[in-house]
Amino acid sequence: MARYNGSACRICRRENLKMYLKGDRCHTDKCAIERRPYPPGQHGQGRTKFSEYGVQLREKQKVKRLYGLLEAQFAGYYRRASSKKGKTGENLLKFLEQRLDNVAFRAGFADTRNEARQLVRHGHFQVNGRKVNIPSYQVRPGDVIEVREKSRRIVRINEALEAIERRGLVPWIELDKKAFTARVKAEPAREDITMPIAEQLIVELYSK
Ligand code: SF4
Repeated sequence: MARYNGSACRICRRENLKMYLKGDRCHTDKCAIERRPYPPGQHGQGRTKFSEYGVQLREKQKVKRLYGLLEAQFAGYYRRASSKKGKTGENLLKFLEQRLDNVAFRAGFADTRNEARQLVRHGHFQVNGRKVNIPSYQVRPGDVIEVREKSRRIVRINEALEAIERRGLVPWIELDKKAFTARVKAEPAREDITMPIAEQLIVELYSK
């Protein structure tokens, strides 16, 4: 499947937000947005004034890129979110948070969502005892995600687990580091998603 292969730091600079897309590097002084805090490109340092549509578009792009999705996938999540009871914007974020690749990242099995997606695709996880290699798999409360026995010696999984204290675990996931398992205790609440996101702008964009 096609996916964005460009620079991750360029995305942060475009959205003017530290999105932590590169794991460890994001916590060093090599972080591009700290060194060059303006949008990329020839006119990056020029005046940027967005229209109402532009602001809504940027918000959608930010969330789409944060979770590493393509346009059609993101639009699909929006459709599902809007047909579900409750606030569409919150439903959307919950669907995104409950993707298996995101849960593996949140649980600390990978340093970035990108890395988590690759690990899922390569079949290193099981959910409730069954191998799952679909990054978009929707995890539900009560599910147990486990690094498969044969994958527990993978260095990058172990290194990511070591760094989870620094990153912090979300309250809706319970991690057992020694057993390489994570249990989903509940659906993520809106306040558990701490990245600054104005989901209402995305709803406004798609409602046009
Ligand atoms: Fe974003 Fe900085 Fe990480 Fe690059 S290093 S992905 S700019 S947070």
